[in-house]
Amino acid sequence: MSRRNFLTDFNWWSHYFRALHWGFPRKPRRPVWKNQELERQGKLEFASDAGFHGELKRRVHEYFHHLGLSPRDSLRMYLKTAAMLLWFSASYALLVFAATSWWHGMLLSFSLALAMAGIGFTIQHDANHGAYSRKGAINHLMGMTLDMLGASSYVWRWKHNVFHHTYPNLSGADDDIDLGPFGRLSPAQPRYRIHRFQQFYLWALYGLLGPKWHFVDDFKNVMQARIARNRVPRPRGWRLLEMTGGKALFFSLALVIPALFHRWWVVLLFYAITAFVVGVILSVVFQLAHCVEEADFPQLLPGTNQVPSAWAVHQVQTTVDFAPRNRLLTWYLGGLNFQIEHHLFPKVCHVHYPHLSVIVRAVCAEFGVRYTAHDRLLGAVCSHWRWLRRMGRPTATPQSDASFFTTYRAETSL
Ligand SMILES: [Zn+2]
Repeated sequence: MSRRNFLTDFNWWSHYFRALHWGFPRKPRRPVWKNQELERQGKLEFASDAGFHGELKRRVHEYFHHLGLSPRDSLRMYLKTAAMLLWFSASYALLVFAATSWWHGMLLSFSLALAMAGIGFTIQHDANHGAYSRKGAINHLMGMTLDMLGASSYVWRWKHNVFHHTYPNLSGADDDIDLGPFGRLSPAQPRYRIHRFQQFYLWALYGLLGPKWHFVDDFKNVMQARIARNRVPRPRGWRLLEMTGGKALFFSLALVIPALFHRWWVVLLFYAITAFVVGVILSVVFQLAHCVEEADFPQLLPGTNQVPSAWAVHQVQTTVDFAPRNRLLTWYLGGLNFQIEHHLFPKVCHVHYPHLSVIVRAVCAEFGVRYTAHDRLLGAVCSHWRWLRRMGRPTATPQSDASFFTTYRAETSL
């Protein structure tokens, strides 16, 4: 926001004084936490590439060609799909039809939540990127496992594939780092007094993202035909039918069928527990790749719609891998611990990412691009906690935060 607009914007001032007084914004007339400078911009443009992306693609192509492997249609992925769907079905059936005590219910809710998150990390994520199979129909069908989990695969493909993958960590364009007034994940976002405590309370709020997705976000995005600053077409015809059918299937599985066998408050309680655990697991895993101390949060070059780095460099430097040698986590997370490789090659099945990471690290070293990975899951979780604490500290306005962040990056790159 320019200084002139900032001074004459009544909404901003009234919102600011409410935030000052209460430490928390009350019903702003428009979402001032969005990056309004970015909202006024047109399509964002990346700097030109000095051959980095081309060399990455050449070496990865050479890897698959040399070994005679297909980037998609992996037997390991099909076996994992069977294991995940079996785990999900067994947990659901036992929870709804066989559980007879509260601790049965608790254990099975956790098991169901883990299976749901696993399907989200592996099957739907690959399939909605087109990384599951060469055949579009199979990708589409497997991508609809997300609808079974309560979120629209149609909205996801716009929100995640297009906006998040093109513009990671660019506030106002990447919906994943927009928690509204509840959290400050980027230096470009305004700070409210309540953010001082965000490193403590956000973990619990992550749990509410599941129900928010089920009941609010998908409907809101479709009705407004908008995700963050980006316009999206409303689904029509088959796409609309799939979305409404998916929601109907999910609400039947989550609420209607269980209510035929149990009291309504028991159904709501176990829906809430399962959805909360799914929300926490999904959110934390996605945050560990981008919202950590080691990730960049670039600002547009002043007065332009120009991103300072080339697209592939931007992807690497706004993303951080974690636990690359942990085989169990790599199996369960579907390569979300190899998000640098995923952002560079989203149409390659995740089972190949550990091998691709060797190539990507080598090319990054040759081109002087910073590649960062946490050795362990705990290291990444602690880094996310420290990043939340840093973003919640009283450091004045978003403008002055930009210079603070530049200084910070300079310190850590030594
Ligand atoms: Zn993705």
